[in-house]
Amino acid sequence: MDAPIIALAARVKEIKASPTLAVDAKAKALKAEGADVLNFSVGEPDFDTPPHVCEAGKAAIDQGFTRYTPVPGILPLREAVCERLATDHGWQYRPDQIQVSCGGKHGLYNMAQALFGPGDEVLVPAPYWVSYPPIVQLAGATPVIVPLDEKSDFDLDPAVLQQYAGPKTRGIILNSPSNPTGSVLSAGALEAIAQMALAQGWVVISDDIYDTIVYGAAKLPHILDVDPRLQQQTLILNGVSKSFAMTGWRIGYTAGPKHIIAAMNKIQSQSTSNPSSVAQKAALAALTGSQDFPITMRDAFVPRLDFMIKALTAIPGVTCVRPRGAFYVFPNLSAYYGRETPGGKEINDSVALADYLLEEALLATVPGVAFGADQFIRFSFATSMAILAEGMRRLAQALAVLK
Ligand SMILES: *Cc1c(COP(=O)(O)O)cnc(C)c1O
Repeated sequence: MDAPIIALAARVKEIKASPTLAVDAKAKALKAEGADVLNFSVGEPDFDTPPHVCEAGKAAIDQGFTRYTPVPGILPLREAVCERLATDHGWQYRPDQIQVSCGGKHGLYNMAQALFGPGDEVLVPAPYWVSYPPIVQLAGATPVIVPLDEKSDFDLDPAVLQQYAGPKTRGIILNSPSNPTGSVLSAGALEAIAQMALAQGWVVISDDIYDTIVYGAAKLPHILDVDPRLQQQTLILNGVSKSFAMTGWRIGYTAGPKHIIAAMNKIQSQSTSNPSSVAQKAALAALTGSQDFPITMRDAFVPRLDFMIKALTAIPGVTCVRPRGAFYVFPNLSAYYGRETPGGKEINDSVALADYLLEEALLATVPGVAFGADQFIRFSFATSMAILAEGMRRLAQALAVLK
């Protein structure tokens, strides 16, 4: 007798596995077979975690700091988060307004579980980070996608936002600088969002994970600086994955109103209990030690960014908004849709183009459709200049032979 096929929960069918991690897996598999794949798909810095941070992690192990911690994270780490928010931004938070989670992504997950449910709509500007819509869906709520325009550097147009807002709107997710576009929200857009959020009682989720990787001198405008009243309805998401090249340590944090953090702690207490004790000690060293590392990393990205913009915009038909932060470029390659590969396959969308680039040019990229923007392809420039140069040569060549 055949074993019965166990049915899965309906919520699993609604969502897809992270497409960026899927491309990465495919590229790694090709590489393992010996193919000379250049990986432009990775969403993490190509730097090692700074030594003093690693040492703090090792010391935690040696000192036996290897047991459960308080659910919201150890107090010194939450105090260090408050200190950073005060020093870097002038925002006042107390430790009971901070939750440390297993990466920033998990902080978003806890937020959505604590705040949203069936019937709720959450505004998600697109291009969006791949995980926003599924995290909202896993809470039973509906992501409402608000399109951003490449022509206005992917800034949010308040008139467009107004069209997508409605009586069921509970909140909005902001990401400035953005993954995948690298764009930032203008002061004008933030002003308009702030007014709507205050008038309608929306919760504003501000994903600030790239706020240390910003190009150009000026301090970025932030929703909390528009109107101090917004602190009552805003959740700040950040972490050490990008700023201190600590993606594998899994430490993120949320700052927000005490009652929402308490609700998130309830969810965390019944799911992961707490983030890794050892990783928390490492993150503490990152947040309380020298803040030079993110600056060094940012400075290293500048020539790569300049190179990528120059190389991409030199390709006929390609447009690319210049990122103001993060380490991605998001060129519009749709001028090549409707063409045919030398092998006779038609390229009609970002998935077909990304597949062609991977199979024929051995370039791993992420198709824009994963970010809700099918005309584009995302390239990470968190890789060496030599790889960037060879990659752009292959890209230009692969596009030139399309008929
Ligand atoms: C990387 C990233 C995060 C968080 O990553 P974690 O490793 O889970 O901390 C959050 N938002 C965006 C937009 C990201 O790119």
